[in-house]
Amino acid sequence: MAGEPQADCLFCKIVEGKIPATVVRESETTLAFRDINPQAPTHVLVIPKVHYPDAASLAAAEPGVIADILREAGEIAADEKIAEHGYRVVFNTGAGAGQTVFHAHLHVLGGRGLQWPPG
Ligand code: AMP
Repeated sequence: MAGEPQADCLFCKIVEGKIPATVVRESETTLAFRDINPQAPTHVLVIPKVHYPDAASLAAAEPGVIADILREAGEIAADEKIAEHGYRVVFNTGAGAGQTVFHAHLHVLGGRGLQWPPG
């Protein structure tokens, strides 16, 4: 059920400490850790501790947690000193947009020049 931990979800397992991750920040509602396959010098994922498959379903059910995720992203940008030159926050939503893990997560990317539009 949405909101409940899913036994087969990679990011639920990271929240539960069953799979290791390089955690950079944690709040009551969120966890942030380094992407295992970084696409930029800073590439951090910010996830809700509760399970929703994507950002839209999380926002519909628990809008405050989306705000928490975005606030954490801002703190990470400051900690990683990427804000000065610009950084990107992305929710890939749906397989066609490149989503591969169906537990909502915000990518925080920075530390290099970023092109627009993305591929
Ligand atoms: P997306 O393609 O938007 O669903 O993003 C999923 C991200 O999770 C990808 O950038 C992966 O590199 C990343 N990822 C997959 N497994 C792990 C893991 N065990 N620890 C950290 N990041 C991971």
